[in-house]
Amino acid sequence: MSTIKHLIHGEHIADDTRTTDVFNPSTGQAIHKLGLASRATVQKAIDSAQAAFPAWRNTPPAKRAQVMFRFKQLLEANEQRIAQLISEEHGKTLEDAVGELKRGIENVEFASAAPEILKGEYSRNVGPNIDAWSDLQPIGVVAGITPFNFPAMVPLWMYPLAIACGNCFILKPSERDPSSTLLIAELLHEAGLPKGVLNVVHGDKEAVDALIEAPEVKALSFVGSTPIAEYIYAEGTKRGKRVQALGGAKNHAVLMPDADLDNAVSALMGAAYGSCGERCMAISVAVCVGDQVADALVAKLVPQIKALKIGAGTQCGLDMGPLVTAAARDKVLGYIDDGVAAGAEVVVDGRGFKVAGNEDGFFVGGTLFDRVSPEMRIYKEEIFGPVLCIVRVDSLEAAIKLINDHEYGNGTCIFTRDGESARLFCDEIEVGMVGVNVPLPVPVSYHSFGGWKRSLFGDLHAYGPDGVRFYTRKKAITQRWPKRTSHEAAQFAFPSNS
Ligand code: NAD
Repeated sequence: MSTIKHLIHGEHIADDTRTTDVFNPSTGQAIHKLGLASRATVQKAIDSAQAAFPAWRNTPPAKRAQVMFRFKQLLEANEQRIAQLISEEHGKTLEDAVGELKRGIENVEFASAAPEILKGEYSRNVGPNIDAWSDLQPIGVVAGITPFNFPAMVPLWMYPLAIACGNCFILKPSERDPSSTLLIAELLHEAGLPKGVLNVVHGDKEAVDALIEAPEVKALSFVGSTPIAEYIYAEGTKRGKRVQALGGAKNHAVLMPDADLDNAVSALMGAAYGSCGERCMAISVAVCVGDQVADALVAKLVPQIKALKIGAGTQCGLDMGPLVTAAARDKVLGYIDDGVAAGAEVVVDGRGFKVAGNEDGFFVGGTLFDRVSPEMRIYKEEIFGPVLCIVRVDSLEAAIKLINDHEYGNGTCIFTRDGESARLFCDEIEVGMVGVNVPLPVPVSYHSFGGWKRSLFGDLHAYGPDGVRFYTRKKAITQRWPKRTSHEAAQFAFPSNS
């Protein structure tokens, strides 16, 4: 079994004193060992990034952008290879893996506009012979810590933009599915990135704590679960770092009585069961306004959930693969047991689901609960599995209140044909990303991604315009070139134009 290495200063470096297994969740077999970086290895990555920073920050943005152009081409040329690695270690279907890569590439496209997005602002003659401008300058060495569920896309939310802005980046990807992330970083080097501008260290809490504590690391981008997001935000900001920490979610879809039910059902099937529910924007709660909508929804969902094509992600033409690890599967099964015990009505039960030929894979079948109430754990907590809960309410106002009372506020959507309801929903809902007849309202790369409440700690969202703000510091420069012939007397009053 091969041991996956770190990528530091353009070289593959072994540090395997401590290791963990990487599994193929479809077979349940360990397929690689992964070295977990020690503090000393993390420091090597930091030193490499520090050394690379002066030259990289002074590299013209247009030249940095050229690296991104070549990177995009290499990502496209290697699409199938990357998707295969994602499917093998994450378990999602090949088509889904290609989809996440394509959304990641959109962030590389955005970063390729570096000369345009880094243009400052200029004002001539703000005073006699005085001009002023503001400049967007890089921060220095920044780090990113990413989750397992999008091993290609989420790192691509971060480092292409950070690097295009002139920073050097250290990535600590998820230890559960690191191979596609590593291959993508290798392709960026093949595209011409100088050594040290991007370093990849694999690891666990030890590596993350080393990054948080290092004074050389000026900013941290994190995406993962809420308890870790909160920890990284608290520890990072305490040390004066800039931190954006995106956390967990519980995303609700509201179905109004006037919704186009067939289209809403198709949308819900993909959004609830796609990627086995392991998406931070997955819909895990359907809020039905009125019993009639709920009954009709259940009647239409049940046959489709039972017909889900589930198998090894690496096969083509499937709807859903396994969960990422045995622990993730057991956690989801525990939630289903809990929902049944709490009195929710299990309409489709995914427990005990097996895939012929892959009996040891970490599979759970699509599951549907009806008559779920807000005090149940299956409603309150993020299950992160193929489990959809139906909550019945009697008005749009009650649906909005339900969602606003939830601790998470990542994504939500409404299905309706009525503009007034949609507008009220968009105005009143306390959630960061909202869809109207769009089940997964993940913003495109030139907008920014982020939730509200306990789904995001920090002020700026990820990628897009907020990403540029996060990865740059503004400098305001005021410059005077007095005429040789003029002399100005000392001025003791605060200078002004009046
Ligand atoms: P996770 O929080 O377990 O891990 C995320 C990262 O943190 C990994 O790199 C991991 O190694 C590291 N980590 C884990 N425990 C740590 C600790 N004690 N100290 C320091 N670092 C630690 O998350 P996950 O299971 O990989 O991903 C799933 C979670 O991520 C879900 O909650 C999902 O909602 C969330 N997520 C959120 C978004 C978003 O944009 N809001 C996007 C994707 C995933």
